[in-house]
Parts: sequence; C-alpha cells; structure tokens
Amino acid sequence: MIRLTELALPLDHPESALRAAILERLGIIDADLVDFTVFKRSYDARKKNTEIKFVYIVDLNARNEDAILARFEKDQHIRQAPDTAYYPVAKAPAGLTERPIVIGFGPCGLFAALILAQMGFRPIVLERGTDVRRRTKDTWALWRKKQLSPESNVQFGEGGAGLFSDGKLYSQIKDPKFYGRKVMHEFIRAGAPDEILYVSKPHIGTFRLTGVVATMREEIIRLGGEIRFESKVTNLSVRDGRVAGVELASGERLDSRYVILALGHSARDTFRMLQRNDVFIEAKPFAIGFRIEHPQSLIDNARLGKYAGHPALGAADYKLVYHASNGRAVYSFCMCPGGTVVAATSEPERVVTNGMSQYSRNERNANAGIVVAIHPEEDFPGGPLAGVEFQEALESRAYTLGGSDYCAPAQLVGDFIKRKASTELGEVEPSYKPGIKLGDLAPSLPPYAIEAIREALPAFGKQIRGFDRKDAILTGIETRTSSPVRITRDRTSLQSLNTRGLYPAGEGAGYAGGILSAGVDGIKVAEALALAMLDDLENN
Ligand code: FAD
Repeated sequence: MIRLTELALPLDHPESALRAAILERLGIIDADLVDFTVFKRSYDARKKNTEIKFVYIVDLNARNEDAILARFEKDQHIRQAPDTAYYPVAKAPAGLTERPIVIGFGPCGLFAALILAQMGFRPIVLERGTDVRRRTKDTWALWRKKQLSPESNVQFGEGGAGLFSDGKLYSQIKDPKFYGRKVMHEFIRAGAPDEILYVSKPHIGTFRLTGVVATMREEIIRLGGEIRFESKVTNLSVRDGRVAGVELASGERLDSRYVILALGHSARDTFRMLQRNDVFIEAKPFAIGFRIEHPQSLIDNARLGKYAGHPALGAADYKLVYHASNGRAVYSFCMCPGGTVVAATSEPERVVTNGMSQYSRNERNANAGIVVAIHPEEDFPGGPLAGVEFQEALESRAYTLGGSDYCAPAQLVGDFIKRKASTELGEVEPSYKPGIKLGDLAPSLPPYAIEAIREALPAFGKQIRGFDRKDAILTGIETRTSSPVRITRDRTSLQSLNTRGLYPAGEGAGYAGGILSAGVDGIKVAEALALAMLDDLENN
C-alpha cells in the first residue's frame, strides 16, 4: 500500500476530483489504481481570504507499487504506507478463573476492559457512578435545578468525564503502534460517524458519545466481561507489596491480583485511599483559570475569513499560548466551538467549569479554558495531595463568589482588564447553567494567575481580532484541567512503582489528557496486564 501526502484540492471539489488528483500525481492510468482510502483530511487556512484548500493524506493500492515507489524514491510525499491494523498481544487460556478488575469506566477503563474482553480475560469493571441514562438525568439536575448527585455527575458514571463533552477525539501523543486508530475503529463500530477516522480534528459531541459508550458496554458484556455501576472502590487489599483485591463501599470484597486504576482526575477520595494504602503518588503540575466565551461568528471570521460559515469547514476553533512577564504560561484549553460552558463539579458546595458541545456545534458561542500552568514546588508545596487541597480551596471559594448556589462567578473581559467588578452584560450571553453571578473574578485565583491572564487577553486579541472585546465573558473557575497527582508506574511493566499488580492508567494517574489519549492508555495497560498474567501463569 502506498501513502500519498499533501494532496491539495479546492474546498468545493467534486468527489471524483480526488481520484483524478491521485492519478495525476502518480502519473498512472485509472485501471492501475485499484482502490484508495482517505487516511486524513485537514484544511489549510493560511490564505483564508483567497483560497482555503483541503489537504489529503490517502492510502492506496495500485498495480506495480514497487515500480511507483522506485520512481518517486526522492519524493517524501509518496511512501510505503505503515500497517496501522491492531493485533491483539495475548489470548486468555481456556478455563482461566482469575479475573482482572478495572476500576472506572471512563474512556481509559472502557478501552482497557474492551481489550481485555476481546483477548478473553473477562474483566470485572467497577464504576462508582450510574449508567449513561441515569447519569444524564442526574447531571441535568445540577444544570437545571441546582441539585448535585455526588456519585453521578459530569465527572462520575458510565463514560467518565468525557461523556458530557465536546467529544474531541484528537491528541498530540506519540502513537507509534497506532492505538489511536483502534480507538477510532471501535467508536465507529459502536455508532460514531466514519469521518472520525479521517478528519484532522474529529469530534462526536456529547449525545452521540452517550450512545457509543452504551453500545461498547454491551459488547464487553457479550465478550464475557461484567460491568457493575454504583460500585465505588473504597479500599485496596495489598499483601507483600502486591495488590490482592478491592473493597467496595457496600462492604463487598473482590479478589484479584490484577487491578487497573482508571480513576479520572476527580476521584479525590480515592487518591486519599491510595495514599492511606501507601501506593506511591506524587504531586504533578496542572493549570487553573477561567472559561472564556465569544460569539462563534467572531472566531469563524478571524480563522476562516471569507470562508466563515462554509458548511465543509464547520465552526472554527483556536489554540493560543502566551508567556506572561511574570514567567507564567497562559494557554487556551479544551476549546469547544459552538458549545456551552458547563458546571462540572462532583462535590457539594464547589464550583468548577468546563465546556461541551453537540455534534453539530451550532450553539451561539465558542468557549475555551484560558488557563495558567502551575507547579507543585512553586505553587502548592506540600505532600502528594497538596494539589488536590489547592483545587478544593479554589473551587469552594468560587462557590461562595458565585452566590453559594452552584451559579458561577463571572466578569466581562473589559472589566477584568480594567480591574473593575462587572454589573451588566453586553451582547455576549453566558451559556453556563445553572447561571452566573457577575462581579470581580480577581479573588477567585492567586494574584500571579490573575495578572498573567490579564496580560494574555490583549495579546490574544492581536492573534484573534476581538478576542479581548469588552463584553466577552469569563466564567470561573477552571481547575480540573488535568490530574493534580501522578500515580507513578514503572515504565516497562506499567505497574505501580511500589504495588505490583496495580496498573495506574489514564488521566487520573497522570498518563493521559483527553478522551483519545485515555483510551490509548487503557489499551496499553490492558496489554501489559494480559501479558503479565500469562507470564505469571507460566511461571507459577
Ligand atoms: P474519567 O473519564 O474521569 O473516568 C474515570 C471513571 O472512574 C469515572 O467514571 C469515575 O466515576 C470512576 N471512578 C473514580 N473513582 C472510582 C472508584 N473509587 N470506584 C469506582 N469508580 C471510580 N477530552 C477530550 O479529549 N475531548 C473533549 O472534548 C473533552 N471535553 C471535556 C468536557 C468536560 C465537561 C469534561 C469534564 C472533560 C472533557 N474532556 C475532554 C476530558 C476527558 O473527558 C478526560 O480526559 C477523559 O475522560 C479521561 O478519561 P479517564 O478514563 O482517564 O478518566
């Protein structure tokens, strides 16, 4: 198979133009092109006011491939295509009785369980939250009626933190084994649109993701796995430095010497439980800030020029970084085109924001986190859980500033820059549910973060005209950008540094950031666990 890269075509090209362009580029006749698939499609918007083009990477089968490759030997855009197929690394022996346990059913736990099930290891998944249907109801209760369910919310429950999200499915992780393709193929098999495999920044939006996750759950069960909701793990049993089982909130105990910890970044009580059990944990950097909202049309115009609103391009996104004079890096995080800002707390009397969208991305506003990177040594010195305590204190303060009823504190960008409390909205309508309370955001974050964001916003306005417009809205606060801890694992075995058989994984353990990378990490630990289990069987 040959991979052809950098094939540019006009935005409105007919479908047949792609085949014609391949033939022309390779200098072959139609009969010699057996078939082709689009591996990736992105767009080049550098000339947004003259011509935006689609840029394709295609994989193709042709007659006489060796001759074609030899002819284009010096052309870096025509190469042998890599094998991106997924091959299972192990197969469980018949009659295997011991079952691995997966704690958490977010993207990491979902893929860990699926891969284990596909290899015949019949995992038991323990998820503290409820299934997607119940969880959707519980989550909307906070957004509509200010009623929080601490075990069933935006962070906890089937599908994990990514369920009510923008469903962005891209990541910058290194992926030499193409596990990301496996994640995409499984999502498509479970009902996601085919395009997620080839568009450069795929997303599926929250409602589609909900259906996909429920279908994947059924597949795991069909393959012999078991998924238990409302099953919070509250203790570990560790013998001679090796995990021996888990204990649930109900008091039930389950034995297993193979446990994947796919907890997510919000399982603060479980981080504390791990620390009590002396599992090695360390503090790690994360970021804090606000969500910012603009009209989506402002972003489309800045990014796509005369092509703004073109149906083939959809709602535009952005990625911004600024280095402030106090040494802090300020950057945009989890940008959601045409989406809404959501209440994302899992704990009573705390406020934390995030963003989500539907597949259509056709809500009025664009939103993104504008966050400042913070580090343990400098900003929250102390023990391994100092970052957790720091987040808790900030989120409690935000709750009070928002009026102590789950509304979020907010301020207009113009007022924030002028250090003046906001009293009135402009044209931009905030989307945060259950509501915002206008005022002064300065007390909500440490002064270094406030100063850095104050300096960054006008600088971002130079990159995206209108980004610092007076009536853009900042909603506070963003704290759960990534995990404040790392549950450190051995690089080769992927087991906890000091607790054998325990596989920390995904975002909560500090090994992923986002749906795709969490899924990929789930695959990696599932493979490592399966191989270790087979090894143990052989040697005992
Ligand atoms: P999680 O998804 O957090 O899953 C962990 C699971 O473990 C949870 O279901 C939890 O209930 C369970 N659990 C925790 N403790 C226990 C316990 N003791 N016992 C049993 N179960 C337990 N990422 C993207 O890539 N694209 C996006 O568009 C995007 N948008 C987002 C929008 C929102 C509103 C949020 C909150 C996050 C978003 N993210 C997005 C981030 C993404 O959701 C996470 O990176 C991803 O879900 C991490 O996967 P995970 O499996 O590691 O952890």
